Amino acid sequence: MKKSLHSQLSFSLGETKSSFAKAKEDKQKKLRWLSHTGIEWINTCPKCFWLRTNKKIYQPQGIVSRLSNRFDIVIKDYFNGYRKKGKLPPMIDGKIKGKLEDPFQEKYFHKVDNEYGFWGKLDECIVDGDFYIPVDFKTTSSDPNEKEIMEAYQHQIDEYVYLMEENKKKTPHYGYLLFFYPEFHEEVHNGFPMAIKLKKVEAHPERVLPRIQRAIEILKSPMPESSPDCEYCNWFKKIEEYY
Ligand code: SF4
Repeated sequence: MKKSLHSQLSFSLGETKSSFAKAKEDKQKKLRWLSHTGIEWINTCPKCFWLRTNKKIYQPQGIVSRLSNRFDIVIKDYFNGYRKKGKLPPMIDGKIKGKLEDPFQEKYFHKVDNEYGFWGKLDECIVDGDFYIPVDFKTTSSDPNEKEIMEAYQHQIDEYVYLMEENKKKTPHYGYLLFFYPEFHEEVHNGFPMAIKLKKVEAHPERVLPRIQRAIEILKSPMPESSPDCEYCNWFKKIEEYY
């Protein structure tokens, strides 16, 4: 049976619409996703950031301790146990107001422009009334009170708050760092003592977009110069003639 002009037209319009939606979806899927770890490389060396992100060439890692990764897994599991009980874990109870987010949204994504997106993964989130407060776990070698908060940790809190707000979650513009570090003890054989310290960190989400934009600018530009004091590139320059 011959289709009426109307049905043919609405069919082709429908088709155009769905292919448009599909094209949009495809385009979104092709976004290049930047992360905290990625853009922090700019502070170490813009060239290494460019090579990692544009060419997938990574600096050799050597032998790396996985101890802090294992710590993160154990602590997240501990927090998840208390989420099921509907309670704050004793290590932060009385120190933080609110409750653990349930269900917990771990990952946040934000489309920056038609080519790039930014994403982040939280360790934990506290809900206090209408507000969402990010928490990040840190395993360190010593008492963090004796040092300034590392710039990278500050950036992380800024970025979590930025991502949460871009995803329509209200935040009080601060987050927490929960530090774990080993302590001296005469009877280590009775259980290794770990000290726990909570630090409130004011967030500056307005600083995040300029950092992302700088990262994008670097990626779109020709490859930057090597950092003059980097031992890897200096070593490579010295041995290059012997290859
Ligand atoms: S100087 Fe070379 S090896 Fe060193 S961080 Fe930069 S690109 Fe990487």
